[in-house]
Amino acid sequence: MGHNNPIRRAIIGMVSTQLPVQDVAEDFGVSDQTVYNARNDDDNFALELQTRPNVQRERISDQQYEAARSFLDEVIPVVSGRNYRVQRCTNESLYAIYFCWCMDRHIPNLGRTHFFENVLGPENIHHVRDDSICEYCFDFDRLNAAEGELSREERDRLDKCDTHKKNWYEQYQFFVTLKKDILQRKEVDHLVVVHDFTQIKVQSTFYQDLIVVTYHYDNASPEALVCSYNHFLAGESSVKNDTNFVVRTWNHLIDSGFFHGYRKISVFSDGGPKHYKTTGNANYFGWVTKKLGVNLKYHFFETNHGHSACDAAASHAKKVICNTQRDTGKPINSPDEIIQALNKIVNTTGNVAPTVQEDELPFFNTFRGIRAMHKFEFTDTHVQAFPLSKDLNPTHNWALKMDYFEGL
Ligand SMILES: [Zn+2]
Repeated sequence: MGHNNPIRRAIIGMVSTQLPVQDVAEDFGVSDQTVYNARNDDDNFALELQTRPNVQRERISDQQYEAARSFLDEVIPVVSGRNYRVQRCTNESLYAIYFCWCMDRHIPNLGRTHFFENVLGPENIHHVRDDSICEYCFDFDRLNAAEGELSREERDRLDKCDTHKKNWYEQYQFFVTLKKDILQRKEVDHLVVVHDFTQIKVQSTFYQDLIVVTYHYDNASPEALVCSYNHFLAGESSVKNDTNFVVRTWNHLIDSGFFHGYRKISVFSDGGPKHYKTTGNANYFGWVTKKLGVNLKYHFFETNHGHSACDAAASHAKKVICNTQRDTGKPINSPDEIIQALNKIVNTTGNVAPTVQEDELPFFNTFRGIRAMHKFEFTDTHVQAFPLSKDLNPTHNWALKMDYFEGL
């Protein structure tokens, strides 16, 4: 991707807002001026449009607009009986989801400005503020805009939110760069796995769904990584989205030869302290590493950000379920029927998750400082933790306790 490529500029602009210019310039290997330009792209572009109506626009194909509109239909559909779309995330998040959606489908994405002005702009959208708005990013903007001197408490909060933004950018950039490197180095033995939970609702019942998205290099399609979406749906609505669910699903994947032929596995998940950044999860992935005998690294996206691939897969699945019900005129009631619908989607498999409800994880010693960590690497006996994925020196080294997983 050339340095002046508008897509590259859009990415820099998207991930670098509010970060020190020099840091961004160094990380992306561009000049400081390029970072300034990337950040100001939208404003300048919008201003130019107002003052110079004949300005030459970037050429965009009809297919790209068509694709962007199908993206909206999948991710923020117009529900029958309404004449508007309901958007629960910020425009920035929606663009990030769109960006990944395009990458996964090998479709060239529209630039940010075009997406906002020409795709979102003409739509009738109701913005719903809910917990998908990131509290850290929200406070960052609020405190930065505040007039007058900040209190000590507010300054601490601002520092925390600032770190949050930097971590988000670092982890997101690491993920993008890793995929690019695999492609360039033609690493056929490297599998990238992103997993996250979603909830599938049918007839007022919720089922937990663990979505496992994978990327790998394939000689047959050398221009992009091959992507697959695998849904593991709870057989009962009472099954919770906990570490046990992850353990049972991954054990099933291991037994079925899912990871066969790979020597390197890079796992990514949400950094949420409830499901993934837990001592139970760290011990389990230590066991997975030993069991598979591979070089496995576990990376965490920053809390509230970065599971766009899974978000897009979840939205697509919900849309297909909805359409199937509409087209057949029959309601979908059971997990089996959901799975049948999922199996109709390209590159997607629907499976019943092998969960056992009575499972109780044993007590694991708390790893102090785990919340601030963004990468785990494993030896036969220990987990090493790193503040960021790009870091090479661990700041923590915790002893693993894996007997429980041997017995499953
Ligand atoms: Zn945030």
